[in-house]
Amino acid sequence: MSDCIFCKIIDGSIPSTKVYEDENVYAFMDVFPLTKGHTLLIPKQHVQDLFEMPEEVARNLYAAAPKIANAIKAAFQPQGLNTLNNNGAFAGQSVFHYHLHFIPRYDETDGLKLNWETK
Ligand code: 5GP
Ligand code: ZN
Repeated sequence: MSDCIFCKIIDGSIPSTKVYEDENVYAFMDVFPLTKGHTLLIPKQHVQDLFEMPEEVARNLYAAAPKIANAIKAAFQPQGLNTLNNNGAFAGQSVFHYHLHFIPRYDETDGLKLNWETK
């Protein structure tokens, strides 16, 4: 998709900091990190959201997820990690190429409260 910023990140026309890549997926640092090490995992195939995702794309995407979680763990030593995916503008999606957020968590120090966290 020519007007998609994440397709441009995959083809290299928009620079990014690579975390992981294989033939099906690309992972890179979020440019506005919610916490240190905030990473996005995307399929190389342009898929708008989870509703539109073919099963094979889902399989390849989630096959890479533990590798990215462990790369983040090794690099940043967080105490925990949230994965999160917004589908549709109403749910907070702002880039319409599917992406899975990896948000490392650092005890009290990360200052982040996700909207299902009450304490
Ligand atoms: P969403 O709100 O769609 O779930 O998340 C989009 C994410 O993409 C945001 O966290 C935002 O910071 C990130 N983002 C938007 N544009 C760029 C970009 O050009 N480069 C990178 N690395 N991240 C981006
Ligand atoms: Zn795209």
